[in-house]
Amino acid sequence: MTTIIVTPKTITKTGAKTVAKDVEKDASMAKQKEMMGAHYDRLTSAPDTGEKVCCTFVPGNLNELIMCFGLVNNLPEVNAIQSGLRRQSGAFVLEAEKLGHSEDVCTYVKSDIGMMAKGNIAPNGRKYPRPDVLLLSYTGCFTFMKWFELLREEYKCETIMLHTPYMANGVVTPNMIEYMVKQLREEVIPKLERISGVKFDIDRLREYLRKSAKAEDDLVRVLESAKAKPSPIDAYFGGIYYIGPIFGAFRGTDDAIAYYKFLREEVEDRLAKGQGPVTPDGEMGAEKYRLVVEGPPNYTNFRQFWKMFYDEGAVVVASSYTKVGGVYDFGFRHDADKPLETLAEYCLGVYTNRSLPMRIDMLTNYIDAYGADGLLINSIKSCNSFSAGQLLIMREVEKRTGKPAAFIESDLVDPRYFSAANIKNRLESYFQMIEQKRASARAA
Ligand code: SF4
Repeated sequence: MTTIIVTPKTITKTGAKTVAKDVEKDASMAKQKEMMGAHYDRLTSAPDTGEKVCCTFVPGNLNELIMCFGLVNNLPEVNAIQSGLRRQSGAFVLEAEKLGHSEDVCTYVKSDIGMMAKGNIAPNGRKYPRPDVLLLSYTGCFTFMKWFELLREEYKCETIMLHTPYMANGVVTPNMIEYMVKQLREEVIPKLERISGVKFDIDRLREYLRKSAKAEDDLVRVLESAKAKPSPIDAYFGGIYYIGPIFGAFRGTDDAIAYYKFLREEVEDRLAKGQGPVTPDGEMGAEKYRLVVEGPPNYTNFRQFWKMFYDEGAVVVASSYTKVGGVYDFGFRHDADKPLETLAEYCLGVYTNRSLPMRIDMLTNYIDAYGADGLLINSIKSCNSFSAGQLLIMREVEKRTGKPAAFIESDLVDPRYFSAANIKNRLESYFQMIEQKRASARAA
């Protein structure tokens, strides 16, 4: 296996295990980091290059359409994640609270608002550009709408909204698609043409969509590799690296095709060798527990949180969080033959737009299909949109699968709500519960 050891100053290719304090990464993780870095450089250079900037959100993002107008994509919640990983978000959240934003507000929003108040500096040390347009593709979270209202007030720029009907009954009807295509034709595309000064070319869109589908195929093969025992990947902690390019600014590009091909080959190689995932401390030891996880991770203590799992031999084989920017594993692919309809279908199907029964079906399916020992929910304190209903999800999945479930609580980017001791205790009790369940199954 080729791994890359990332030290603060050097990146060295080696097949050996990591030395203390270095962070060991798959080669694909280093490649992903490079891509994200290049994107931040492009974004922060926009005032010099003259490129126009479109702020939009991960769930329901219309990257292929945005690229048709030569716009650079800026994703505020990804910026908040970057602030969380860099341990800057705590100060930003406090700053936003000082400005009057309540404790209950989603901390992605407060991290973004606090960051703007404190200089609006991107991970590469340069200032984020002012957006030329805020494109809200609304897919189930009301907070996104309020967030863009705040940004509109700050930047006084144009806003466009594409409304996605909620999947209340779990089905996509022709009316829903028609309603969304009408909005795309009559509102979204004409406004983007006017703002960018670029005429819409549907063949350009088709070309990007073809590229998206290729990368989506490879992503699914990577995620489904976790059905193997041992799983060659951690589909939650590692999965967060894997979804970065396709959920962000790269879907529809040659770079995304190259990245997902590289990633798939890397994972297939591990699979063929019967290896488990690579963790920041090197190869994971024997796989003891296979989990399905619902909810986002905590980003301020991301490595510490992951360590609590791999130290116990726990691997996450499937997660709902890696589906928030698109659900591809049940067959959906962007389809160049119906370019506007496919954008509508994509938005309708993202995880954030799925009803509670659909989420329960999905998690139940994952437990069965991935041979998991149970469900773990990481409930996010400030995510009002998706924390509601999680206890019900837990009980229902437990009832349907007969597998134990557990509930922990933390926050996305607010370090005040990451209690390491509590989470560790809960996880340890959960692993004991799985052991007991196995023992009673053996005895039966
Ligand atoms: S889904 Fe949750 S975390 Fe994401 S923006 Fe909405 S409230 Fe915030």
